Amino acid sequence: MSRTEEVYLTISIDTECDHDSAWARSNPLTFKSINHGLPNILQPAFSSVSAVPTYLLTVEVMEDAESIETLKNLKGDYEYGTHLHAAFIEPKKKFHNYAGVDSPDFQCSYSPDIEYKKLANLTALFEKNFGYRPTSFRAGRYGANGQSLNSLERLGYLVDTSVTPYLAWKEPNALVDFRKAPEQPFFPKPDTIIEPGPLRDILEVPVTMKPRMFRSPHWFRPWFSSVEQMQNIVRYQLKKHRTERQLVLNMMFHSMEIIPKATPYPQSNDDVLRFVDDMTSVLDWCGGMGVKFCGLSDLYEKYSGENK
Ligand SMILES: [Zn+2]
Repeated sequence: MSRTEEVYLTISIDTECDHDSAWARSNPLTFKSINHGLPNILQPAFSSVSAVPTYLLTVEVMEDAESIETLKNLKGDYEYGTHLHAAFIEPKKKFHNYAGVDSPDFQCSYSPDIEYKKLANLTALFEKNFGYRPTSFRAGRYGANGQSLNSLERLGYLVDTSVTPYLAWKEPNALVDFRKAPEQPFFPKPDTIIEPGPLRDILEVPVTMKPRMFRSPHWFRPWFSSVEQMQNIVRYQLKKHRTERQLVLNMMFHSMEIIPKATPYPQSNDDVLRFVDDMTSVLDWCGGMGVKFCGLSDLYEKYSGENK
């Protein structure tokens, strides 16, 4: 029997300049996913099923005047947070022209002081544009660790979503290993990212996965998983965590995935239609089962209340 009373669904979207099908940044740099994708494709799809996305904004998006104008005028329900590709911001900024470049760095491979200052500059850029401080975050390439969370907490963030259970990520100088991470939200022990500890000021909300024997997990993510696979992921989470009073489903993808050829994923308009259809049908199916939609930061209150 299930003890679960509430299931929340959050959608965390890395929101970036357009890339190419090999994952390099577009050249010349374009922002079709922001200026066309968000107002004309994603928000209407989310609104049609009352879902609430969280757009995690990168440096180059927040430096682009037209994108900021679009974001400030976007209609509907959503949250804005931040997303860091560490090579694109001071200190130790590596690129001043982002067109055509890749960004291999994990933020956590910088010293704690440099990483903190990069996050502080990203946060200040957000505040300068929107007039308030962001409270949700994901690291580029998922390259975060306990040191990153300490910095995010100092900067007033409430939720991080850099953890991808069952997966480890490598860059030339660093490794992040989330293979043993919890599947459901938790407060990480200070200086760690995958060990649950007591209540603190930052909540980790892992990307939702379903493990598979000897193979990489299925992601709760359109295109990576079919509608049926995403439904199976939901059923798996509900069953596995049925003794918990509340559960979270965290869907992730990138804003650019709904622009043809702006990622390695959808390459044509038909592909985009399939992506959006799959996403919307899964969200609608979840809504029909009584799942509640919320922004990432709303989850902090729900979990801190539970632990008081
Ligand atoms: Zn990214």
